[in-house]
Amino acid sequence: MGNRTEEDYNFVFKVVLIGESGVGKTNLLSRFTRNEFSHDSRTTIGVEFSTRTVMLGTAAIKAQIWDTAGLERYRAITSAALLSPCLSRPLHPNPRYYRGAVGALLVFDLTKHQTYAVVERWLKELYDHAEATIVVMLVGNKSDLHQAREVPTEEARMFAENNGLLFLETSALDSTNVELAFETVLKEIFTKVSKQRQNSTRTNAIALGSAQAGQEPGAGQKRACCISL
Ligand code: GDP
Ligand code: MG
Repeated sequence: MGNRTEEDYNFVFKVVLIGESGVGKTNLLSRFTRNEFSHDSRTTIGVEFSTRTVMLGTAAIKAQIWDTAGLERYRAITSAALLSPCLSRPLHPNPRYYRGAVGALLVFDLTKHQTYAVVERWLKELYDHAEATIVVMLVGNKSDLHQAREVPTEEARMFAENNGLLFLETSALDSTNVELAFETVLKEIFTKVSKQRQNSTRTNAIALGSAQAGQEPGAGQKRACCISL
C-alpha cells in the first residue's frame, strides 16, 4: 500500500479503536499514522482521530482512525458490572464515537488476560452502536513480550473465528503486523464498498448497510467536499 498526500483521496473510511485502557490503542495509531511509539503510558487527551491516506489498487483511501482519547478509562469495570452487563455503564461514554464507523480494531493486551476477558462486552457495545456490517478485527497487541503472554494465540483465533472477526497479533513497539492489521481492515471495507457500488445506480453516496461509508468525488470534482461519517 503506498502513501498519498492527505488532500487527494477517493474514499474516507472511519475506523474506531476500542478495548481496555493500556492495551496499546494509541500507540498502534501513532505507529500506523506517524511511525512513532511512546513508552510513556500517559494517554494523549483530546485527540479525536488521526488520518493516513493509502492506495488500494488505483483508489486513494483516507483512513480516519478514531482513538478513545482516554475516555474508556472513565468507567469502572466492577465485578458486578461484569456479571451483569445490563447494569453496567457504557464502555465508551460517547455514542458519537461509533457513528458512521465502517471498521473497528478491538484491541486486547495479550499479556493481560483481563483485557481479553472483556472483549465480548466491547463487541456487544460496538454492535449496539454501529452498523451490523462493520468490519471488525480482533487484535492481540504486545506480541513482543513473549515471556509475559497470558492469552494463547489459538484461543483468541478461535474466538475471532466463532464471532466472524478478523484476527491478528501485533506489536506497536517493534511494528510487527501493525501495517498489515490496518491494511487488512481497509481492504475488507473497500471490498464491501466496491460490491455495493456494483449493485448501486447511485454514484455519489456509498453506504455499508445504512451507514455512509465514504464518498467518491463526483464528475468534475477534484475531491469529495462534504463527507459526513
Ligand atoms: P491505550 O490506553 O490502549 O491507548 O494504550 P497506550 O497506547 O497508551 O499504551 C499503554 C502502554 O503500553 C504504554 O506504556 C505503551 O508504551 C505500552 N505499549 C503499547 N503497545 C505496546 C507493544 O506493542 N509492546 C509493548 N511492549 N508495550 C506496548
Ligand atoms: Mg490511549
